[in-house]
Amino acid sequence: MILVSACLLGTNCKYSGGNNKSERLAELVKDYTLLPVCPEVSGGMPTPRKPNEITGGSGEAVLMGSAKVQCKEGTDNTESFIKGAKETLSLAKKFNIKYAVLKERSPSCGSSFVYDGTFSGKLVNGRGVTAALLMENGIKVYSENGIEQLLKDIQKDSNSMKKDEV
Ligand code: SF4
Repeated sequence: MILVSACLLGTNCKYSGGNNKSERLAELVKDYTLLPVCPEVSGGMPTPRKPNEITGGSGEAVLMGSAKVQCKEGTDNTESFIKGAKETLSLAKKFNIKYAVLKERSPSCGSSFVYDGTFSGKLVNGRGVTAALLMENGIKVYSENGIEQLLKDIQKDSNSMKKDEV
């Protein structure tokens, strides 16, 4: 089973009320069970909602309490983002999830890039809050651009498990 950002499967949970549907991800349902989750909705945020960015660090720093997530007007939504990350981890543990495909650049779901907190469209290297928490707990997180790598890794991991069983 693979945990996925719900917006990538076409759920209209994006801050704007739309989605980020990925046709490539949708094709995986032929071979895998996909478990959609939206950490921001799980954290209690409405849809649509104001866009948020991490300021003062990336997802790991938010989890440690040294950075925050806020909207342009300055409303601090850090607690909702942490709650959403914890709810997502709890779901992942319940289903023994090892892999996740999460939407790049989101302050929750980004796995390599997030916006820099200035609301100017500038990206920096870093993870969103949920991606960071999942990775800290041993879950392999890929973006929607990393699906081919995910499939290679699943194959590789399953081959090494077979070897261990011999
Ligand atoms: Fe998509 Fe993640 Fe943002 Fe929810 S929090 S809309 S799943 S990118």
